[in-house]
Amino acid sequence: MSKPLFEKIALVGIGLIGSSLARVICREGLAGHVAIATRSAETLKRAEELKLGDGYTIDAKEAVRGADLVIVSVPVGASGAVAQEIAPALKKGAILTDVGSTKAFVIAQIKPQVPEGVHFIPGHPLAGTEESGPDAGFPELFENRWCIFTPLEGTDPAALEKLSAFWRSCGANIDTMDPEHHDMVLAIVSHLPHIIAYNIVGTADDLEAVTKTEVIKYSASGFRDFTRLAASDPTMWRDVCLHNKAAILEMLTRFSEDLASLQRAIRWGDGDKLFDMFTRTRAVRRSIIEAGQDIDVPDFGREAVAHRRLRAVPSPAAALY
Ligand code: NAP
Repeated sequence: MSKPLFEKIALVGIGLIGSSLARVICREGLAGHVAIATRSAETLKRAEELKLGDGYTIDAKEAVRGADLVIVSVPVGASGAVAQEIAPALKKGAILTDVGSTKAFVIAQIKPQVPEGVHFIPGHPLAGTEESGPDAGFPELFENRWCIFTPLEGTDPAALEKLSAFWRSCGANIDTMDPEHHDMVLAIVSHLPHIIAYNIVGTADDLEAVTKTEVIKYSASGFRDFTRLAASDPTMWRDVCLHNKAAILEMLTRFSEDLASLQRAIRWGDGDKLFDMFTRTRAVRRSIIEAGQDIDVPDFGREAVAHRRLRAVPSPAAALY
């Protein structure tokens, strides 16, 4: 058997993302030893029951001691406190990375804590589901998904290449961009859709003229597809909204303007405008399928994912977003 990419990997945070990493690291033999740290004894016990690693602790410092790669997978609002806690125990030459959904804020929180000689490379795998916790992870989550790095100036190319090799072994494709650009791109492709979903499901939940039982009963006509996004983890999404504020507000402004224009077309019976827009948006869906980021079935690949998670057979619909 070939030598693992890293002798010791420490996973700080073992929810959906951390536990998916643990599973793919084990499947691909990417580490000699996997140390797992999480905040609560309850999650730690579950990680141990699931045999996600080789060592388990609620002391993140203990987990990162001697690790060549440390991956922080906690809500972005907690990244500063976690970095402060682990900093004194990081090994010289180690790679420290994260998976947080916002980058400028996370960098501002983590960078000042990073000791000399530790390679901090911020990252974000664009892969997930609406579920959370150690039971939610699966090893194919990152297959054919993008992992974006937002490297700091002066990043060691060898460390960047080693981390890229790690993510490629997890099945991901790599891209790099600056943190502000990342936050703007993610505001439109991920954060705005979630906010719209939270809003529409909230609006339906508040309705009095239409009963909640009717909303649930007839949900397959469209509403259902928003509820998947709106079922995402409240802590994670609270933190994303709080810590990518400027980019999200910019996208919400544009969205509101476009919605007003759509509203006007409906009010004035401008069928041509509606038809043109709906034709344009249909083409976007086709491009996503052509890019291999979804499959052309009406259930958005849900059945394929469920099937694969039962049988663990790789397919292009590895993750839902
Ligand atoms: P998750 O399933 O909810 O797991 C969160 C992990 O972080 C758990 O181990 C939890 O520990 C720990 N944690 C929670 N609050 C903490 C705090 N205040 N201090 C220290 N540890 C804390 O979350 P996830 O979905 O894996 O998300 C983790 C990160 O990945 C987030 O930054 C998120 O933005 C990013 N991300 C998520 C997705 C997605 O679709 N979910 C996709 C890409 C990136 P306990 O359970 O022990 O409390």
